[in-house]
Amino acid sequence: MSEQSRRVVVIGGGAAGMSTAVHAAELGGAVTVVETRHPGGGSTGLSAGVFTTTYSDPLDVALRVEGAAALTALQADHGLPVCVNGFLRLAHGDDEAALFRRSVEEQHRQGVAGARLLTADEIASRFPEIRVDDVVAGLWAPDDAYTDGHLLCSVWAEQLIALGGQVVRGAVDGFDPGAPHRLRVGDATLEADVVVNAAGAWAPRVGALLGHHVPMVIERHQLCFAHLDRPLGYLMPTVMDYAQGSGRLGVYFRAEGEQRLVAGLHSNDIGFDLVDDPDDFSPVCDAAFMEEMAEGLLDRLPTLDRMGLQEGYAGLYPYSPDGRPIVGPTPGDPSVVLATGGGGVGVNLAPAIGRIAAEWAVHGAPSGPHATALTPERFDEGAAA
Ligand SMILES: Cc1cc2nc3c(=O)[nH]c(=O)nc-3n(C[C@H](O)[C@H](O)[C@H](O)COP(=O)(O)OP(=O)(O)OC[C@H]3O[C@@H](n4cnc5c(N)ncnc54)[C@H](O)[C@@H]3O)c2cc1C
Repeated sequence: MSEQSRRVVVIGGGAAGMSTAVHAAELGGAVTVVETRHPGGGSTGLSAGVFTTTYSDPLDVALRVEGAAALTALQADHGLPVCVNGFLRLAHGDDEAALFRRSVEEQHRQGVAGARLLTADEIASRFPEIRVDDVVAGLWAPDDAYTDGHLLCSVWAEQLIALGGQVVRGAVDGFDPGAPHRLRVGDATLEADVVVNAAGAWAPRVGALLGHHVPMVIERHQLCFAHLDRPLGYLMPTVMDYAQGSGRLGVYFRAEGEQRLVAGLHSNDIGFDLVDDPDDFSPVCDAAFMEEMAEGLLDRLPTLDRMGLQEGYAGLYPYSPDGRPIVGPTPGDPSVVLATGGGGVGVNLAPAIGRIAAEWAVHGAPSGPHATALTPERFDEGAAA
């Protein structure tokens, strides 16, 4: 079969699935996305939409540099609204400052020229509302940005349709493996040469339907809004205030205009507020979360003590056991490809996840230096249980 006619069915129209679909269509695949709700209707539409390159491991930085380039291109070529507000991590000790220095070096190596360390005084003079008396340094990436997950998926849906692909609304609820595979969506049947499981927090359930195991941990995360009593006169960067590897959640916040913040709790460590069933979790904010946010925001932004907090909502982080995405063919079956495991950064990683998954789906192999590092086989030794 020629690559031109390869039929690719992507299950899930979140950031991972829509990105995979557009890349697969660009590679010549005949692509259908099946989405239960609407593009962006899962975790993606609930995300804070933050993109950052402020990591230190070469693979982590490379995946995010690809995300940043895609975001810039989507803004320039397709009118995606993107707000460049910068990203600031706060270091509270020398170990973290050393880690941040390594991050700056790695980002520079990969072309992120603007990344640099800020002293506490420099942070205070740029962003006077941020309390810095317990901060030893900041990791600053001025070109980092955020977007809206729904709009991102809409732009990708438009691109997909322009490339001859389609989005079908419905849930894949039956699977008859073969050549071709047959997928049931309500009363309809879709034929596929390759199926991509991009179902986010539902990927383990879809995997069970397709006959493969998806190692995944699902966390519930909440988000709220803060109305400020005055405009700041500048855009608050995305500020991440937690110690890496501390095993704790930390407060993050970012601008939503000059007089409003979006805020939540984040960690790159895994295991907070675990959810067994992605269709059965509380989608609203808890009182305890709102209290923690009030304390955390006032602690870091003490002069904004007249801010009003407004409840937001809760959504899901679909994590793999090692926190990195799972992208590639299921062991032993190249016709079923995984594109999931974005965790708390899956919108940021979606351009890279989608490009790599599409290459596996259409060409049978990925390109680029890091692509095989994300395959599901790395969990084969039982780490996935
Ligand atoms: C509060 C919060 C804040 C966040 N902030 C950020 C951030 O700032 N930056 C960032 O990068 N990430 C952030 N994230 C994480 C990010 O949202 C996720 O990692 C990302 O959206 C995962 O994308 P996905 O496409 O894998 O999953 P999803 O967006 O959940 O998409 C999966 C889709 O599959 C569909 N589906 C499921 N089962 C089926 C089926 N059987 N048939 C058809 N369709 C099906 C679902 O309806 C869903 O739309 C945040 C998450 C939360 C909850």
